[in-house]
Amino acid sequence: MSGRPLNGQRAVVTGASSGIGEGIARAFAAAGASVVINYHSDRQEAEQIAREIGEEGARAVPVQGDVSQPADCRRLFDSAEQELGGIDILVANAGIQRDAAFTELTLDDWRRVIDVNLTGQFLCAQEAVRRFRRRGLDAARSSALGKILFTSSVHQTIPWAGHANYAAAKGGLKSLMETMAQELASERIRVNAIAPGAIRTSINRDAWETEEAEQELLKLIPYGRVGEPEDVAKVAVWLASDESDYVVGTTVFVDGGMTLYPAFREGG
Ligand code: NAD
Repeated sequence: MSGRPLNGQRAVVTGASSGIGEGIARAFAAAGASVVINYHSDRQEAEQIAREIGEEGARAVPVQGDVSQPADCRRLFDSAEQELGGIDILVANAGIQRDAAFTELTLDDWRRVIDVNLTGQFLCAQEAVRRFRRRGLDAARSSALGKILFTSSVHQTIPWAGHANYAAAKGGLKSLMETMAQELASERIRVNAIAPGAIRTSINRDAWETEEAEQELLKLIPYGRVGEPEDVAKVAVWLASDESDYVVGTTVFVDGGMTLYPAFREGG
């Protein structure tokens, strides 16, 4: 891959004021893209990231928006078009957890996780596709009309007790991604997903914050280390670039082997 595989590309990254989204926004900028840093509530952090990206010579614009709200999604993409002149890549990454044992899970927490992790990704993707079509193919920029990446999870595949809302949302996202990819590929719109395993961010702080917790977590990871946002970001750059032009409707697992069911090394 060349040093700047996203040269001239314009991207919206949702949930980009922290964790994986932040890592992807920074990696995209380093790869030559201009980036909208969508944030929900942490304006200061989003502005700081945009400033640091600017100091590196790339363009980044922080834009507030709740991805579960259709009007916010429209505004997010309007801002992207106004500020960056168009949109070539969407990374629909924003996500939350609201965990509870199955019978304790409230309807509010069920709905909120589905609203953000599934409906929010749908709404952003719909806005992106409409705008790709309006802009038309620009072969000088990319051989695709547009690229969409979803941040899914290993829990699109691995059941997760105590997290029924989250696992249902990510399983739904897998079907959404594959259906969109099938429906849109003939227009040269590429839709793919990344399924991270355990990545060191605030969403799963409890799982790695203490030495004891991290040792427990490592039992689930054959590769023997917790992932970092940069591990995901590198794959996102490749999936968003023309280097992966023939990759359509695929989930790339970035999980240190978590989906290899390591408990079966000794059992079964
Ligand atoms: P994170 O908490 O750092 O990032 C989530 C981001 O989403 C935050 O910046 C948050 O403000 C934003 N967000 C939440 N609700 C929003 C809304 N309504 N509108 C817009 N933004 C909103 O955690 P992360 O690990 O970076 O999570 C990013 C994505 O990665 C999520 O979709 C998560 O499910 C997925 N993921 C993470 C892991 C992991 O181990 N960290 C593993 C698998 C999947």
